Amino acid sequence: MDEDVGSYDHTHRAFLQALLARQVITFEEAKPLLAAIQTANTPDRPTLPEDVSHEDFDNYIYTLNSAISPFDFEIRSTLHQTTKQKIYALVNTTSDALTQMATIHTADEIAFVKRVLDSMFETNNTQRAEVMAIDSFQALNLAKDPNRRESGSTQAQQNAGLTKTEAQKMLHSMVEEGWFELSGRGFYSLTPRALLELRGWLMDTYNDQAAEDDDEEEQYEKIKFCQACKEIVTLGQRCPKTECQARLHGHCVRNMFRAQGGREECPVCKTAWVDAPPVGEGAAKNARRSTNGTGGGGRRRTSGMNVDGAADESSDASEGA
Ligand SMILES: [Zn+2]
Ligand SMILES: [Zn+2]
Repeated sequence: MDEDVGSYDHTHRAFLQALLARQVITFEEAKPLLAAIQTANTPDRPTLPEDVSHEDFDNYIYTLNSAISPFDFEIRSTLHQTTKQKIYALVNTTSDALTQMATIHTADEIAFVKRVLDSMFETNNTQRAEVMAIDSFQALNLAKDPNRRESGSTQAQQNAGLTKTEAQKMLHSMVEEGWFELSGRGFYSLTPRALLELRGWLMDTYNDQAAEDDDEEEQYEKIKFCQACKEIVTLGQRCPKTECQARLHGHCVRNMFRAQGGREECPVCKTAWVDAPPVGEGAAKNARRSTNGTGGGGRRRTSGMNVDGAADESSDASEGA
């Protein structure tokens, strides 16, 4: 492949169309695609997938990014937090994912997704347990807005929420459209693409709000970034010192230690990075265990502290009235 770097031609257009159709791509997935596109362009000089180098791929991304930036699109990359694969995604740089979803989903469906996100990043994301995911049982309990039921406002009638079947369908759509992924243990979490698209929105929505909360969790930011790669951590490790905000992806821990000259300690508070508690669905198990084991942290509110919080909350709502 010896095309001029930077000149946008129909091979780029073909690659962009492929990307539009699939939303995310890895280098390995791009190789056969680019080979086919190149071969179609110059049939007398067929290109094999092995012939496509990472540099060729990077050149395509570079040229495409120059071409699509006036339309507020950008191809961004991130590492998948579980598979560690580098994922490239076509990201809309001006509108967030919720705005994009609104073009194909109803207001009730979007409101449901918002409740699911609130659960992921508020209810299931506390100083004690940073689950940042939601199991399907808890998600389906959010089909109807628990706060709307007793509010009695005119909005309450208008915004009826979803039935459980509709909610189940919507969760399925979120997976199909590439926003949510479902783990083997039945937890929904955000995909790398969703994290790329929602980065700004998540910070605006959950970090600003945290500052207005009560003193106890002042300074506590809901959305935290990896000390090594600076991407959002929804799956990884947290500093063994509970109050410390330092987080690392599992695959970034070694890089961090190396950068510190081999010192296996927290880059922020210098606590030894030993038995670092998990961030992600692994924290849900811990939350349950510690609740059962210690009889539930003293005077602290237990509602919303773990993934079983949904049940607590609905009972709170009826008792509190
Ligand atoms: Zn990282
Ligand atoms: Zn620390």
